Amino acid sequence: MNKKYDVIIAGGGLAGLTLSIQLKQANPDISILILESRKSSAPTAAHKVGESTVELATHYFREVLGLKDYLEEHELPKHGLRFFFKNGTKEDISSRVELGPRLKLPTPSHQLDRGTFENYLEKLTKELGTEIILGSRARDVNFSEDGHEVIFTQSGEEMSVTGKWVVDATSRFNLLKRKLKFEKEAPHDVNAVWWRVKGVIDIDEWSENGEWKNLLAPHLRYLSTVHFMDSGYWLWVIPLGSKNTSIGIVADEDLHPFHTINTYEKAVEWIRVNEPLALSKVCPPKEDLMDFRILKHFAHDSKRIYSNERWAVTGEAGAFLDPFYSPGSDFISLNNTWLSDLILRDLAGEDISMRAEIYEQTHLRWFTSWLPIYQDKYKLMGNTQIMVIKIFWDWAIYWSVPCLLFTNKGFTNLTVLKELFMTTNGIGVKFQELNKRMQDLFLQWLPHEHEIFSNRYIDPFDLEYMRRFQEGIPVEHETRELLKQITTNMHTLEQIAATIFRLVSHQVKGTPVDMKINPYSISLIEEVDTTSDLAIAPDPAITKDVRVMWFYGEKITS
Ligand SMILES: Cc1cc2nc3c(=O)[nH]c(=O)nc-3n(C[C@H](O)[C@H](O)[C@H](O)COP(=O)(O)OP(=O)(O)OC[C@H]3O[C@@H](n4cnc5c(N)ncnc54)[C@H](O)[C@@H]3O)c2cc1C
Repeated sequence: MNKKYDVIIAGGGLAGLTLSIQLKQANPDISILILESRKSSAPTAAHKVGESTVELATHYFREVLGLKDYLEEHELPKHGLRFFFKNGTKEDISSRVELGPRLKLPTPSHQLDRGTFENYLEKLTKELGTEIILGSRARDVNFSEDGHEVIFTQSGEEMSVTGKWVVDATSRFNLLKRKLKFEKEAPHDVNAVWWRVKGVIDIDEWSENGEWKNLLAPHLRYLSTVHFMDSGYWLWVIPLGSKNTSIGIVADEDLHPFHTINTYEKAVEWIRVNEPLALSKVCPPKEDLMDFRILKHFAHDSKRIYSNERWAVTGEAGAFLDPFYSPGSDFISLNNTWLSDLILRDLAGEDISMRAEIYEQTHLRWFTSWLPIYQDKYKLMGNTQIMVIKIFWDWAIYWSVPCLLFTNKGFTNLTVLKELFMTTNGIGVKFQELNKRMQDLFLQWLPHEHEIFSNRYIDPFDLEYMRRFQEGIPVEHETRELLKQITTNMHTLEQIAATIFRLVSHQVKGTPVDMKINPYSISLIEEVDTTSDLAIAPDPAITKDVRVMWFYGEKITS
């Protein structure tokens, strides 16, 4: 094959296919070749994990790639993430504390059948002019200023092809990471096993309790990504558009070792012990399973992402942390947005050195700042009060800053990036610091918080600021307005952090619930700053909201 391509993408999965579409839509003249090892169409349902999408990726799929009509017609609308916490027996779903939206969400998201979705993406990118060689396995790359040579095999025969750019989207095959030795461990030891079962599983049918059923309109629970949780694990139930259901266990190695779940028989026994109600619902006889897959220690980092020498990684070939909040496609959306911007500018003759450096640093820093959300946090999963507050905190930071930046193209706006991330006391640095303080607080709180709660329903939209953050995601802003909005959101986050801390510190140490506190000094083990100019007083509106998720409401004594 002598043809020279502008871009060769090794790996035609979610990341590779969407990158090709994004590039082609921006510039139809770009020549793109995708090498994909799969030999034929992807199977329905039992293909890959990555079925649940959240707000950032949904914006990418619907608005950036223009897939709104396809998604609405062929994939399921999603009714948010939904969590069931531990209670006494776990046999009665209606008495477990439940967290999730009651009413239709203002910002849409979807449950993807990855087989049907990838087949559609493949068809679309071909229509846009991308060439795809199925059954081709990328093996090696020889880098050259005149174009990189990608070596691949097809039907046992070795071939090569040349591209100005080479992108590794081979996921865990890690073509470039291994070649250029930029692997990096992620300090987060969690494993997963999953399987698909034929047919619809509607958890509304798991109880006869009419009052519980009526908390939501029929089938809305079914459309949620459902998490059943206890210390060290969560069990997922995700509906698929093909009318099948995805089931998975994600568990911390220290608390539920991999060897206790890594065969279907062991996973069934594990469910019998840990989630007995689910046993008869999600564990059909082995011969009726659509598939069963395992993945040990899936989190991994990367030392590199984008090079001005015209190579890059995207998707799981780069970094991946944890699926608890379904962020995998978010990272792909960000990754592809940075990468397509670099490729388009480079092919237009622009020097991309500075942007490649800034995008890579921002990407890697983003991964680092997201790590404390998951690291060591599986040990909190059996604690309802801590997890409710943590989940609302994690959503608040996600909706108020990264989602808003993404929908406003802030991640490729150098003015925004410089102001937020490139200065030592910029908002990006403060954001990371404040989040780290809060994630540490959740761990410090654990030895003091033991209550088991039952019979409660909590909705993120019971909190005014959560609604404001979510509804703010699609709002468009000019650069200065965007920076102003992010600054306002950061002040709200500081108030939320301070208010949560006041309650926790009151419970643990008996400190006043109305004390002033510097949110960047929050800690149960270090001395806190209550007197400097940085210490802030309670904001009544935020206090009212935070008390909604404080299950001890009446126990506040001051
Ligand atoms: C347990 C678990 C649950 C997850 N749940 C979610 C979720 O709910 N939502 C979410 O957004 N994300 C989720 N993710 C992340 C999700 O897996 C990623 O979002 C997404 O699938 C990664 O896409 P990708 O294109 O990088 O990899 P893939 O989609 O796996 O694509 C890689 C492609 O490369 C091909 N390939 C491999 N090697 C070669 C080679 N040498 N040459 C040519 N082709 C090759 C493969 O055939 C494949 O098609 C989850 C991850 C895990 C581990």
